[in-house]
Amino acid sequence: AEPPAHASVPQAGDPGLVLLRRVGVVDPESLDDYRANGGYAALREALRLGPAGVIREVLDAGLVGRGGAAFPTGRKWEGTARQPDTPHYVVCNADESEPGTFKDRVIMEGDPFSLIEAMTIAGYANAAQKGYLYIRGEYPRALSLLENAIARARERNLLGRDILGSGFDFDIEIRRGAGAYICGEETAIFNSIEGRRGEPRSKPPFPVERGLFGKPTTINNVETLVNVLPIMLMGGPAYAGIGTGRSTGPKLFCVSGTVRRPGVYELPFGATLRELLDLAGGTPNGAPPRAVLLGGAAGGFVRGDELDIPLTFEGAREAGATLGSGVVLVLDETVDLPAILVRIAAFFRDESCGQCVPCRVGTVRQEEALRRLSQGVGARRTDLTLLRDVGAAMRDASICGLGQTAWNAVESAIDRLGVFATAPATVPAADAPSAAPVAKE
Ligand code: NAD
Ligand code: SF4
Repeated sequence: AEPPAHASVPQAGDPGLVLLRRVGVVDPESLDDYRANGGYAALREALRLGPAGVIREVLDAGLVGRGGAAFPTGRKWEGTARQPDTPHYVVCNADESEPGTFKDRVIMEGDPFSLIEAMTIAGYANAAQKGYLYIRGEYPRALSLLENAIARARERNLLGRDILGSGFDFDIEIRRGAGAYICGEETAIFNSIEGRRGEPRSKPPFPVERGLFGKPTTINNVETLVNVLPIMLMGGPAYAGIGTGRSTGPKLFCVSGTVRRPGVYELPFGATLRELLDLAGGTPNGAPPRAVLLGGAAGGFVRGDELDIPLTFEGAREAGATLGSGVVLVLDETVDLPAILVRIAAFFRDESCGQCVPCRVGTVRQEEALRRLSQGVGARRTDLTLLRDVGAAMRDASICGLGQTAWNAVESAIDRLGVFATAPATVPAADAPSAAPVAKE
């Protein structure tokens, strides 16, 4: 089912916005309107700079990936561009599926031409002639707007052969996902596009060397790509002046949960969590939240007395969480935290592709233990030990990020929020379910 349209953009039209400045302002179906609002000036600047010049600006900007892992974008582009093997591909990861993440949807529905322009610049810099846009199947409106944007861009020679007389050929093909969370993992996307089962591949080799169809591939998240437009227009060093030294630029945050005004908010990195929650109107009763989940199901919790942490990759890490893709899920005192942990565990169990044992079995055992703990039936302290053992096995031995992070939120809830702190040491043997460690399965 399509996720709820939390995508309110309270600051639409605010002149201080960088990424959202056209959202809610332009007609998303009109290329003329896009161009009248500054569209395609960045591509002209990129063509003037040349591929190496574009990569130089992206490196100077300090742009890092906005899908969650914060890998330096310029290094990725350099890595693909220098590969002698051809053809090269660029892929846009628009399979936005992290629970609580809905920022890419706002861009694709509100400013779809910006993504097409940004992918074209990426193709130019990465010496690629073909781009794939892999979009989650549950975003039908974004899909039709992007299809329209591609068709309009082709009509005006902004896609296709000899773009704007530059000699550069580039086109984009859209592929739809079919509802599997794991198909947002970059190598699972490659398999899916190639017509194989959507399962992650082992890395290395990284996609920059061997990606789609075994060829050098740059794959970037939607928000990462649209950041390239202001980098082209203002220059890398000026862009790096936004945010903090190690987390540069503007960032989209997806605020949901018990807040008055859930939605997508754009702030420069370095704003505090408190400032963001104030923008979102705070909790319904005005009290500090009990906890905030940063980074989504794969992220971590911060407590309600830690709202002054800066929203940067390093700030979140120091607080024991992660910014991930920008999830900010607010939980007030009315929320049943153990039930939320069970829900997260069930999500990972459901979405595991089953390819590797630590994740396939570990996510099941994790959910079972959490159900026992949350329902008050079972060998409680033993279950906490079991959770740690299973969590360590998943983190250390899983093939991909799903299994490696499936224990993050649970661990942080236990360690930082004290969930299950009152678990009794023992229960009557008759009530105690099997708690065999996953390694013995
Ligand atoms: P990763 O750290 O393995 O890789 C990040 C990126 O850097 C990848 O593109 C990878 O190919 C590249 N990379 C890493 N090392 C490299 C090297 N040495 N040379 C060249 N390229 C290199 O992370 P990941 O598994 O791709 O992503 C995990 C993240 O995805 C998590 O933070 C999670 O929160 C996030 N996520 C986001 C969503 C969403 O909907 N936005 C959904 C699920 C997960
Ligand atoms: Fe599949 Fe989980 Fe292994 Fe990733 S970690 S490959 S989702 S079984």
